[in-house]
Amino acid sequence: MIAVIGAGPAGLASAATLQREGERVVVLERGDVGAAWTTRYDRLHLHTVRWLSCLPGYRIPRSFGKWVSRDRVLEYLRRYAEHHSLEVRSGVEVTRLDPGWTLSTSAGPLETERVVVATGHNNVPFIPDWPGSFAGEIVHSADYRNPAPYVGQRVLVVGAGNSGAEIAVDLAEGGAREVFLSVRTPPNIVRRDTLGFPSQVLGIATGRLPPPAIDRIARTMRRISLPDLSSYGLPAPERPYAEFLRRRVIPILDVGIVDAVQSGHVRVVAALERFEGGSPVPADGPVLSVDTVIAATGFRTGLEPLVGHLGVLDERGEPLAHGAKEHPSGPGLHFVGYEVTLGGTFRHVGIQAKELARTVAGGNGPAPASFDRGDDKTLVG
Ligand SMILES: Cc1cc2nc3c(=O)[nH]c(=O)nc-3n(C[C@H](O)[C@H](O)[C@H](O)COP(=O)(O)OP(=O)(O)OC[C@H]3O[C@@H](n4cnc5c(N)ncnc54)[C@H](O)[C@@H]3O)c2cc1C
Repeated sequence: MIAVIGAGPAGLASAATLQREGERVVVLERGDVGAAWTTRYDRLHLHTVRWLSCLPGYRIPRSFGKWVSRDRVLEYLRRYAEHHSLEVRSGVEVTRLDPGWTLSTSAGPLETERVVVATGHNNVPFIPDWPGSFAGEIVHSADYRNPAPYVGQRVLVVGAGNSGAEIAVDLAEGGAREVFLSVRTPPNIVRRDTLGFPSQVLGIATGRLPPPAIDRIARTMRRISLPDLSSYGLPAPERPYAEFLRRRVIPILDVGIVDAVQSGHVRVVAALERFEGGSPVPADGPVLSVDTVIAATGFRTGLEPLVGHLGVLDERGEPLAHGAKEHPSGPGLHFVGYEVTLGGTFRHVGIQAKELARTVAGGNGPAPASFDRGDDKTLVG
């Protein structure tokens, strides 16, 4: 038997592909299928295009639109589990793995031959320990739903990733009095699509081009498709792809931040340095008077309690081996969903899951055609 931990896209795709190879698979999920998508903010749509976000063996229905909404993602994940008749044990939290494998769970111990850990790269919200204290409320982006609680407020959003940028726009459109966006490293910004061509496709192509060529293409695309935002505090990075390889931060896919910054509805400030007299102080000066700070400051894997004692994580708590690969200290232990790629995580976990299933089944040939038919053509693992 194989235990899969987590019933998000990565766990479900792994379970479906392994089951297809004839393995008995049990998915252990502390919440319910797609739990992470039940709490994401209301206006969220996938930034990756529908046909490049399908998991293996069951497509996202065309009726869900080109950019799939949060609720539709959740519906898709539930349908996906049902379509593949996956055995998902909801409400079961796994707390520790010991070689062999023994899983300590909230429902008692479980013995399995192999374990797939798919608890999510965005598992544990992370808020930096800024010096000083803030007089208002600090809310992590994972707890932000919509602008209603912030109407009439001054809000500082910290972190210019996709969540930070979109939440800043949501607040500005939703009635916040003033919105600041605190940016440490000016992000690369790309149009979600240009003349119907999704930027994600270029992201997928990057695997096949040398980094300097990708940087040239990315710079040119930004120059021709977006206005120069340098005077607003968002200069274009010189080497956006090299920067991605260094920091593994996905570019911002513009769903309104460019207009909001240009129109002054969102004002860019430097990195938040500290709190002074109960107020935030950005690196570029004056103290900001705000009611709320929204920390779009990312997540940690939170894998340490589960596998930290096994020597399979690096110093940042990220797995040392991914997908089908096994670390010598963890034979029979796999991690799916922890690699950040420009082609999108939904697409990438499908590729990882198929490779994993083929490796476990002992063959190197492609997955059976009948299984791939419901899938997107580009998902060749
Ligand atoms: C705001 C936001 C927008 C995103 N938009 C996109 C997008 O447009 N396109 C794209 O490709 N990707 C996107 N992603 C990235 C990624 O695709 C999603 O986060 C996706 O849900 C990751 O899937 P996953 O299965 O790896 O993790 P998750 O969806 O986080 O699933 C992990 C599951 O494991 C469960 N779990 C965790 N710990 C335990 C435990 N100890 N025991 C049992 N169960 C456990 C959790 O409850 C959860 O259900 C986005 C991420 C965020 C945060």
